[in-house]
Amino acid sequence: MEIVVCIKQVPDTTEVKIDPVTNTLIRQGVPSIVNPFDKNALEAALQLKAKYGARVTVLSMGPPQAKDALKECLAMGADEAILMSDRAFGGSDTLATSNTLAAGINKIDKVDIIICGKQAIDGDTAQVGPEMAEHLNLTQVTYVSKIDSIDGKIIRVEREHEEGYEVVDAQMPVLLTVVKSINEPRTPTVKGLMKASRKEITTWTVNDIVVDSSAIGLKGSPTQVRRIFTPERRIQGELIQADTAREAAATLARRLIEAKII
Ligand SMILES: Cc1cc2nc3c(=O)[nH]c(=O)nc-3n(C[C@H](O)[C@H](O)[C@H](O)COP(=O)(O)OP(=O)(O)OC[C@H]3O[C@@H](n4cnc5c(N)ncnc54)[C@H](O)[C@@H]3O)c2cc1C
Repeated sequence: MEIVVCIKQVPDTTEVKIDPVTNTLIRQGVPSIVNPFDKNALEAALQLKAKYGARVTVLSMGPPQAKDALKECLAMGADEAILMSDRAFGGSDTLATSNTLAAGINKIDKVDIIICGKQAIDGDTAQVGPEMAEHLNLTQVTYVSKIDSIDGKIIRVEREHEEGYEVVDAQMPVLLTVVKSINEPRTPTVKGLMKASRKEITTWTVNDIVVDSSAIGLKGSPTQVRRIFTPERRIQGELIQADTAREAAATLARRLIEAKII
């Protein structure tokens, strides 16, 4: 079985700053991490590999420093890592990103399962996975919280939604996007780290894939970011002062009743 996991390197969001002039993320000097949901996606792939046997490839589109994220994935247990990196991919919005990644997946022979994170913690759109499925004309199941079984070409998964979950049987090849509750991603072992340090990361440029040049990079990006900002935090609150906890609790209860909350 051939599994591809899409990995995005993202800035550690606790450190994110926005350039007030250009309205873009300031990436310089900001530590980068593997998008947390993508680690869940990789863990799901590695568990499938242990259960059914599979080859797990991690695929990323990004600048050369995204190799660090891919190295971490190799240390976790991925078999192969591919970085799609070219100036022609720069300025991509989600449509261009998904077109580029889909072209990369087309180059990998006979993929059975593609696993993405639910969303990236910087862009946060949750569009890239579903868009890729559309470009590749594949079945897609989003918000997967459990992979139950694979029987022949049918994969059974649980899909999370507000009121519970759905059990879905899907025909492979399939694209899944996964939520955090699906698993607890493993930490790379020292052996894994050493093995990963010796492994090569394959790099593909625009010349290595078959793609319409008007569908990638800035040219292929119909979205324009008009403004990006951190919402102002409105701190409203009242500290209840009382001599004892009992009095404080009584005041709190009274206020909640007055506000018709309880
Ligand atoms: C006009 C415009 C210009 C932009 N220019 C740039 C730019 O110059 N540089 C830049 O870094 N960003 C740029 N972006 C942001 C970029 O579009 C998004 O970061 C990217 O398309 C992914 O979208 P997302 O972060 O919302 O991912 P989501 O859709 O939330 O991600 C879902 C899942 O898709 C997969 N995925 C997403 N992105 C990648 C990737 N790159 N590689 C592998 N897997 C991936 C992961 O599995 C992830 O969990 C731009 C956006 C716009 C709108």
